[in-house]
Amino acid sequence: MRHPVVMGNWKLNGSKEMVSGLIKGLDAALNGVEGVDVAIAPPVMYLDLAEQLLSKANSKIILGSQNVDLHNNGAFTGDISPAMLKEFGASHIIIGHSERREYHNESDEFVAKKFAFLKENGLTPVLCIGESEAQNEAGETVAVCARQIDAVINTQGVEALNGAIIAYEPIWAIGTGKAATADDAQRIHAAIRAHIAEKSEEVAKNVVIQYGGSVKPENAAAYFAQPDIDGALVGGAALDAESFAAIAKAA
Ligand code: PGA
Repeated sequence: MRHPVVMGNWKLNGSKEMVSGLIKGLDAALNGVEGVDVAIAPPVMYLDLAEQLLSKANSKIILGSQNVDLHNNGAFTGDISPAMLKEFGASHIIIGHSERREYHNESDEFVAKKFAFLKENGLTPVLCIGESEAQNEAGETVAVCARQIDAVINTQGVEALNGAIIAYEPIWAIGTGKAATADDAQRIHAAIRAHIAEKSEEVAKNVVIQYGGSVKPENAAAYFAQPDIDGALVGGAALDAESFAAIAKAA
């Protein structure tokens, strides 16, 4: 049985004070919430602080990160390894976010390598996929998503998706307030699942597919009512404890 996962992607936002306040607020607001896994991905600088606060509060919130690099040590200036993320308690690692694909030129193949490296290190990849506005208008949405997933399937086999999370995030919906309708999102999620099912029905049935892109407390329940939408990857609304908790409660 699939289990919804609601994850907050804090992006490049935070300070010691903000991280402390948000984690304390979230932990309190999520008290008693069942049936959903809740994860947060603060900037990597704050993982240590976040881990300390979560463990002190005995919190069920899962710690994650927004990126990872391709080596565990060595001469790779500026890189962060899976081993380091693990040491600070991060388990759910976002890869292939459209902002990294766009601003850091990350290709499907490069993201697929990160996927493999996370799995090798026992971490959970949260693989972001999704089309641009132009691709959407050209009717290429499903083909783009399939290509991004195939970079993993064709190099690692469909079973590599077991235990991983896919986040479908139409780029035009990210941070714009222009969210996909629940019906449109469901249609794409079903197509993504069908694409995976061509290789393995079992894997397709079990893989968590989150929706992301302007998810708010007001629209979250409509997404989660869809049969193929298993939670959300949340940006802006994840920076407010009450809003993020309301989204998690809707799952
Ligand atoms: P948003 O961001 O919720 O602010 O649209 C989502 C994301 O980038 O993961």
